[in-house]
Amino acid sequence: MPEKNQIYTTKIDTINHLGYGVCRLNGIVCFVKGGVTGDLLKVKIIKCNKNYLIGKIEEIIEKSDYRTEQDCPVFKFCGGCSFRHISYKHELELKKSFVEAEFKKANVDVKVNDVVSTGITERYRNKAQYPVNSENKIGFYAERTHNVCENYNCVLQPEVFSDIIRIVKNHIDKYSIKGYNEETQKGLLRHIYIRQGKITGEINVCLVINGQTLPHSDKLIEELKAIESLKGVCLNINPKNTNVILGDKYITLYGNEYIEDVLCGLKFRISPASFYQVNHDCAELLYNKAAELVNTENCQNITDLYCGTGTIGLCVASQIKDCKLTGVEIVPEAIENAKINMQINGIENAEFICADSTDTSNNILKNTDVVILDPPRKGITKELAEKIAESNIKRIVYISCSPDTLARDVKWFTELGYTCGDVTPFDMFPRTGHIENVVCLTRPTRQ
Ligand code: SAH
Repeated sequence: MPEKNQIYTTKIDTINHLGYGVCRLNGIVCFVKGGVTGDLLKVKIIKCNKNYLIGKIEEIIEKSDYRTEQDCPVFKFCGGCSFRHISYKHELELKKSFVEAEFKKANVDVKVNDVVSTGITERYRNKAQYPVNSENKIGFYAERTHNVCENYNCVLQPEVFSDIIRIVKNHIDKYSIKGYNEETQKGLLRHIYIRQGKITGEINVCLVINGQTLPHSDKLIEELKAIESLKGVCLNINPKNTNVILGDKYITLYGNEYIEDVLCGLKFRISPASFYQVNHDCAELLYNKAAELVNTENCQNITDLYCGTGTIGLCVASQIKDCKLTGVEIVPEAIENAKINMQINGIENAEFICADSTDTSNNILKNTDVVILDPPRKGITKELAEKIAESNIKRIVYISCSPDTLARDVKWFTELGYTCGDVTPFDMFPRTGHIENVVCLTRPTRQ
């Protein structure tokens, strides 16, 4: 039985979704931070849990071919990237295997295709939310903590975000504005939330504060105007003692309260409260695949549940003649955006409803040929799966950012008589542990 402080010589078998090397010591699984598939290592056991061990690299005896040079000064401390230390090719192989493992765990027999990627692994994000701590450090949370790892120039983000961070940092230091302390709930500035349209370049800066006003905000706006394509600055009011980043109330200080961007040839207006895929180019690949899966015979009535600003539904509907689109989404601002997005793209036969998707009326579902599902990480409810099945919907296109809940929900649908097609993973979040998937479920209409 392995014990703490013992040293083993071992080969790393694979890497898990957190980026830890995985090996077995006397049959017990051991996770080794920094270990790479194929490494021969001396590993010291630093923690023994009931079912697994945690090991630390003492020495690299033989380096794996999958290792790459680390190119980020904070990679070791920051919790953002899990895979900066391995080749991107290997990351894609691992991600495919993670998706396969989730479906296996859920006891669903499906084929998982190779991961689709844009091949772009840097500066691909269009959104960042930087925490600010009580020492006015700005960056990202270190792995599994809320300690801020200072970093203005994350290589996943657009370079212009670092200029914005510097301007905000100067402002808060100059006017003695304090960052937020999670323990005492004191301090004003909690997060700096920035979004940029990939095609338009439009930028919105949103400061999340524990208060109602930001001192000398007019001065800050003057400084921020130096940023090309700045379209708006707003405050988000979040006085709650919570891990949730955004509060409910927004106050526009300057310009528009939204940005616009172009996706799959359509224009979208997006407010800070509304969801928008963080990787524009990969989102286009994903939405085109979704459109291909929807666009078959008899797809006149499309219902887009968890529709956000209407992106997927409108992209799909714009490609199908005479179809009727219904979108359902819980965030009111996103629904407002969706209604405008429909107009600015000249799409007439669409309706957007602000509601919980599980409460979608039976009337809508009864008349639906194809339902698109794109829920948040927690997936859909069993009640919704049952409602869809009872409504006799014969085709479901399910997009998910969480392979475990996707596998669980697909299992429910198979139990309700649906057949699951291939799962296609899309690498929406290169270098991190996350992966997006799309799958099509079908069931013949009952006579
Ligand atoms: N399809 C959109 C948004 C996907 S993200 C796009 O691709 O841009 C998931 C969306 O589900 C978010 O907009 C979130 O606000 C919304 N949402 C979360 N819970 C919901 C619920 N219970 N009912 C309806 N929408 C919900």
